[in-house]
Amino acid sequence: MISVNTAWALMMKTIRPLEAERVPLEHSAGRILRESLKADRDYPPFDRVAMDGYALAFAKWESGGLRFAVQDMQTAGQSPKTLTGESTCIEIMTGAKLPEGCDLVIRYEDTERDGDTVVIQPGLVLNPYSNIHRQGVDCLSGLVFHDGIMKAPVAALAASFGYPEVLVTRRARISIIGTGDELVAINASPKDYQIRASNIHAVRMALDAAGHDVISCETLADQRAHILNEVRSALERSDIVLLSGGVSAGKTDFIPSVLADCGVLKVFHKIAQKPGKPLWFGQTEAGKTVFGLPGNPVSTLICFYRYVLPYLEAMSGAPKRERGRVELLARTASSPKLTHFIPVQLSWGSDAKMRAEAPLHNGSGDFSSLTGTHGFIEVPGENEPDFNPSQTLFTYYSW
Ligand code: AMP
Ligand code: MG
Repeated sequence: MISVNTAWALMMKTIRPLEAERVPLEHSAGRILRESLKADRDYPPFDRVAMDGYALAFAKWESGGLRFAVQDMQTAGQSPKTLTGESTCIEIMTGAKLPEGCDLVIRYEDTERDGDTVVIQPGLVLNPYSNIHRQGVDCLSGLVFHDGIMKAPVAALAASFGYPEVLVTRRARISIIGTGDELVAINASPKDYQIRASNIHAVRMALDAAGHDVISCETLADQRAHILNEVRSALERSDIVLLSGGVSAGKTDFIPSVLADCGVLKVFHKIAQKPGKPLWFGQTEAGKTVFGLPGNPVSTLICFYRYVLPYLEAMSGAPKRERGRVELLARTASSPKLTHFIPVQLSWGSDAKMRAEAPLHNGSGDFSSLTGTHGFIEVPGENEPDFNPSQTLFTYYSW
């Protein structure tokens, strides 16, 4: 049985990066940006008035002028006016281009209005271009920005620079298949020996929340021939096939042999971890990737968040995630050979450190114990390079 680190390294060797596609900016949230965004002009593109008030010539104020005739008014979006005459000013609004002949803006708060005249408070500390956001100070025309993930600040850049569409990684096409004779649909009334299938819905929601493209999601009975057909067609239409259940040693655990018949080459089966030991992973020659997730609901979810989601991120070219580490105070020492994934609730300690607490549970079938948890921590087993029996800080994965 291989270690968690070895399993992950083997998975990473199979990564085939997804191609890029151009999509409307408004549909690009969370996608990985695959082009640099180039400033089409200086930013700000003009000397931008940064305060509502009065624009005038600095030299006039510096030489002692405190009373100015208000010549005109200019709002944001108007073409700039020109200052004329001696001891005049232009009433000006934030966002306007600085009027010709002005190099100072005085805030309303620092003035008093007297009919068509404005009186400036004495003793202000001002410099040339005070309250003006000067052209090009943020970035010069032609400067390029590259920021991995499409989030609000990148959307603001893209929109300002005139990108109605952006080049991003295409979404992976993902099929989900749960197997088990005991499984029935959500709206069915289960017989006393049946349960409603929950894993496919949990995995689907996790994929939806992460912005992936689930193209099909179904539950199949443990009938080998039917599973074979369905897995074959899922492989044809998908980049990734996620299976749940049927990967252990039971008499109806057909998944490993079905996958062999479908031409999915096994990379590994079983990892020294708890829960999720029977995880199966492989790929076809064409690069279709299959995860055979163990059916126990906690195992399915932990394997999903520990391996599947990071795998999808790697395929998309996402920047590597920095994972936080949290402190687990009460550490249990059962089967130290295995890496343990422990669902936890997080809270801030009085020392401003994040603490993890592991609620009691009844094993990997007990999905009700996940209620109220925020994610899980990884406690390395003896065969992991980072094994350390006195360790109290552990890598954290959130749901
Ligand atoms: P298996 O991996 O098929 O041996 O299943 C292990 C356990 O997980 C069994 O108790 C199954 O009933 C349960 N299980 C398998 N698939 C699902 C599913 N889609 N939803 C909920 N429980 C499941
Ligand atoms: Mg089963």
